[in-house]
Parts: sequence; structure tokens; C-alpha cells
Amino acid sequence: MEALFGKTLSELKDITAENGLPSFSAKQMAQWLYQKNVTSIDGMTNLSKKAREQLKEKYEVGRIAPSKVQASVDGTKKYLYPAHKGLFIEAAYIPERDRHTLCISSQVGCKMGCLFCMTGKQGFQSQLTAGEMVNQVLSLPESDQLTNIVYMGMGEPMDNIENVLKSLEIFTSEWGMAWSPRRINVSTIGVEPAMRRFIEESNAHLAISLHTPFNEERQKLMPIEQVYPIEQVIDALREYDFGRQRRISFEYIMFAGVNDTPAHVKGLSKLLNGLRCRINLIRFHPIPDSPLRGSSHETMEWFSNELNKKGLTTTIRRSRGEDIFAACGLLSTKNMVKQNP
Ligand code: SF4
Repeated sequence: MEALFGKTLSELKDITAENGLPSFSAKQMAQWLYQKNVTSIDGMTNLSKKAREQLKEKYEVGRIAPSKVQASVDGTKKYLYPAHKGLFIEAAYIPERDRHTLCISSQVGCKMGCLFCMTGKQGFQSQLTAGEMVNQVLSLPESDQLTNIVYMGMGEPMDNIENVLKSLEIFTSEWGMAWSPRRINVSTIGVEPAMRRFIEESNAHLAISLHTPFNEERQKLMPIEQVYPIEQVIDALREYDFGRQRRISFEYIMFAGVNDTPAHVKGLSKLLNGLRCRINLIRFHPIPDSPLRGSSHETMEWFSNELNKKGLTTTIRRSRGEDIFAACGLLSTKNMVKQNP
């Protein structure tokens, strides 16, 4: 059975055409799937009985509830969702006072091998479908409370750009969930060609994982630097007009003695000169078998002040969900495979 969940309006139109159904049924189906939370084709009650029977021969809705939840002392929750092939993914729900964010995954595992990331250690297992990305949002028990979606969970979104763009279309279209793209942030380590496509085909915010302004150092932390050096990625960003509404931010995990020195302040100021952006300074959560350690709070404060003096806007991110391995860089489902897929 093929899942209807994750189909765009134009794909639903193809399905109606192939099955001899009126084309307006495609919009009705989209509304059932993305606005009325239907869980079965039988629930699509404004489609004729004959149409529903016909659809049921080949399709199912394909919504999947999370199979496990872990709650942190700070209110963060980590949800485990079954994916195809008996695999699993994680999504982190981060409630704050007036902001309720869901951090979603775009792949099972990741092939990019960043040194500081548990998902990287898991290796690449599979791409997620657009339906599996949208499902993390709509099947979340707190779905109605969400104000923001960030693609910062497992995987590199630009390595699954087709499905990421499709999921963004579903999130932001009037026939879909009608979210403002300004409430969605997609991260990348700087996979330039797909990043350009994302900038051109979507209006969501963009977050770049930067972590150091220096090539050699970045290569050690993030092998992608050998393919798309950070200056090249930033030059690419300078070609686009992001307008006043769309935001570029840089994620900067702070490692003690590695990327938290005066030279790094200078390097960042040179690299990002003139670019309207924000730098998010993130505390490092140590992972097993890694020599990296996080910078102290004092160093982070100092680093932030120095960058501010150079005219760069910074935020020190509060760490959330570390005790349940839901914090930045800690998501992994390496050893989880469903027994009877
Ligand atoms: Fe992949 Fe992102 Fe982890 Fe790098 S930081 S290994 S791109 S999930």
C-alpha cells in the first residue's frame, strides 16, 4: 500500500486523474490529510463511497504515531517515530513560554560524519519521505501547540533536498498546513548546490552550521569542508537578496581550546563581514569517544561580547533536553530496528 500522506496537491491530482476521480477531489484529500487529521481513507467523507473504495485498493493514509516518548526535567520531550524499512527516527519537542518548537529529522542517520555529532556516528541508513517529515509534526501529541519547526534533527536536510522541499510545500501551502515559512528554519552544513535550490525554491529561514571560520580546522570537524569550503558557501549566500523577513543564522558549537579564541573572533568577523545574520553560540554536549569538550560559560560570554564589539549579533543558546539525549547533536537511533517490520 502506498501512503497518501506526504503527497503534494499536484501528486494528489495525478492520483485522481489516474483513478478517474474528479480533480477537485485532490484538494479535498489534501484538506483531510493536512488540515482535518484524518487517519483512514474511510474518514474522507466528502469523497464518494465508490471513490474511497477505489483509493483503498492502492493507498492508505500512512499516519504513524510515535512509539515512545522520553521527557526531560526541563520540559523537552524526545519522540521516537517508526520509519520505513523497520528503522526509527527521533524528533525533539522544545516548549518555551511563547514558543513551542519541534526539531524534526530529515534522514535516518547521516553520511556527513561531523566529529561532534551522534547522528554522524550512526552513519547513513535511509532518506525520509516527505510524509515521514510531515508526520513528525502532525502526529505529535502537542501538534496544536507548535509555533515553530526546525529541520535540525537527524540528517542533513540538503542531502534529501527533494523530499525536504516537498515537506516545506505541504507545511506552507494554503491547501496544506498553511504555516508561515517565517516559522520554519532549515539547517545545513553547507551543501552548496542543494542550499542554492533551497534558497530559490523556499522562503523558510536558513541556518548554516559553521563552527569555525578556518578551513583546516573545519575540515577536521566537518569533512564537507573539503568539498564546499565555507568561503564558497558564504559567497553563494551573498548572491541572494534575503529581504528583511528571511533570516540567515550561523550555528556555532563552542569547543574548549578549539574554536573559542581571539583568532576565531577575528576570523568570524572577516568571514561574515557585511552579511546580515545572527550567530547562535551553542554549548557542546560531549558525546562518547570524542576528545572534544565544551567551552565554559564564561568563555562563551566573552566570545559573544567580542563578536558583538565587531558588529556581529549573537545569541547564547540555552541547552535543552541534555538528560534525555535530545539536545543538539545527540540524536541517534543506531541500534534500533523494529523486530517485525
Ligand atoms: Fe549529519 Fe548534521 Fe550530524 Fe553533521 S551535524 S553528521 S550533517 S546530522
